[in-house]
Amino acid sequence: MRSTMMANPLLISRLLEHGSTVHGRAHVATWTGTGSRRTSYAHVGTDAARLAHALRDELGVTGDQRVATFMWNNAEHLVAYFAVPSMGAVLHTLNLRLFPDQLAYIVNHAEDRVILVDETLVPLLAKVLPSLTTVEHVVVNGSAAAVPAGRWRVHEWSTLIEGRPGTYDWPELDEQDAAALCYTSGTTGNPKGVAYSHRSIWLHSMQVCAPEGFGLGARDTMLAIVPMFHAMSWGLPYAAFMSGTSLVMPDRFMAGAAIAPMIATERPTKAAAVPTIWTDLLAHLDAHETDTSSLTEVIVGGSACPPALMHAFQERYGIRIVHAWGMTEMSPLGSVARPPAGADGDDEWAYRYTQGRLPAGVAARIIGPLGEVMPADGTSVGELEVRGPWVTAGYLGDDDADPERFRDGWLRTGDVGTLSPDGFLTLTDRAKDVIKSGGEWISSVELENLLMAHPAVLEACVVGVPDDRWGERPFATVVLRENMSATAAELREFLSSRVAKWQLPERWAFIPAVPKTSVGKFDKKRVRSSYAAGSLS
Ligand code: ADP
Repeated sequence: MRSTMMANPLLISRLLEHGSTVHGRAHVATWTGTGSRRTSYAHVGTDAARLAHALRDELGVTGDQRVATFMWNNAEHLVAYFAVPSMGAVLHTLNLRLFPDQLAYIVNHAEDRVILVDETLVPLLAKVLPSLTTVEHVVVNGSAAAVPAGRWRVHEWSTLIEGRPGTYDWPELDEQDAAALCYTSGTTGNPKGVAYSHRSIWLHSMQVCAPEGFGLGARDTMLAIVPMFHAMSWGLPYAAFMSGTSLVMPDRFMAGAAIAPMIATERPTKAAAVPTIWTDLLAHLDAHETDTSSLTEVIVGGSACPPALMHAFQERYGIRIVHAWGMTEMSPLGSVARPPAGADGDDEWAYRYTQGRLPAGVAARIIGPLGEVMPADGTSVGELEVRGPWVTAGYLGDDDADPERFRDGWLRTGDVGTLSPDGFLTLTDRAKDVIKSGGEWISSVELENLLMAHPAVLEACVVGVPDDRWGERPFATVVLRENMSATAAELREFLSSRVAKWQLPERWAFIPAVPKTSVGKFDKKRVRSSYAAGSLS
């Protein structure tokens, strides 16, 4: 029997209509360095219509043509997030920290026709513009004076949208059509494109809003630090319009010293970013008194959150860190670590350290070394595979799903860990970062977390390096806190009561900062190659 239900498609335009009317008074505050400029969701709705008219009538964007953004987190980027997919085109968020040749590769691969760019980022874009073969229009959010001349036409955002109608007759689209496009950083080979559908974004947004997700409501204000070019800012813009959660956008001000006044002034209730941002903010808060009283809960994911960081925020500032896991291929939300009812004390902390509990929309299994499915018993370790309606089934332009990344309709995450019977995921490492020493595995993440619990250690990044006898051994790079000291022998001693002796690193380097990837994670590839080049040993 078929259902009697209406088959209304789940479209971004519906989220836009809802957010800009029902939650029209919710606001987005964009930080300017000393304060912020504010606009309402109602106004975002009007500007989205204006931008869509401009893209269609002035720039000739039709069908599913790609419109890229090269922008920070700000109100105009939010407008583009809604205007482009709502009109049926595809939003392509460009990671502005990629190397120029990678950037050129993804723009050409996606066949972007238009690039929307922040004025402050024009010099960066100018370096790659000549290598972009499909771009016909550059629209600058600010003054376009610095855009070099070329095959492309140059426009200024405000003049382009000025005077255009504030409403748009959004088309009825197929909910499975692409709405937005994101490329993964690609540790080997070229970056890979993931095309999210209107439907997948809708379902994902519902999970982001849900109490067991990020728990967003109309009384919340979310400080969205995670860049809109990193896995769609973890879905926050769309979830905000769904729930009526106001947004604070940091624009280009991402350092702890800038985030602190943003919190004191804009008084967000929640925030989201990768661990390195919180480490930086914590060091700043410890040295500068700041009113963080509005902030009750922050979502930390993208790489493993050190338990010491969770304790520090909770005990010193009353801010609860909620650990979450995901990946670009998953829209990106996978799991969120909210302990089950009744868990308290150490039991509750043990749940909070995990990568979190899987929602109904994400099925998962652990695969052993021979490709066998292992039990979800909390102890069997293997590679995690996932599937679900907001998980990609392949990469853009690939005829067949890459067997390295997909198996029998499951996405191979490349993450290694365990699953508990009640659906909590604990990751020991990424498969490529696990240190294989004499036939045993050493978790680089475990060593890092333990080291970062030492009072003198600000950051610790551990990688496997070649060893004649053992195959691989751990190499620990450490950043010490200002005015603090610790020797390798002391840190080894500190670790020795916590891990088996054979896991203790014998190679150490004290460095001024751990190199970071384009989205702020420890760049283990660079640490390994610096070691190989002899510049770190
Ligand atoms: P990139 O590969 O550029 O880092 P993603 O942001 O998609 O791109 O990275 C996804 C990966 O990040 C996951 O497969 C996992 O290895 C890691 N990751 C994300 N969240 C966590 C977490 N909470 N704990 C450990 N690893 C995480």
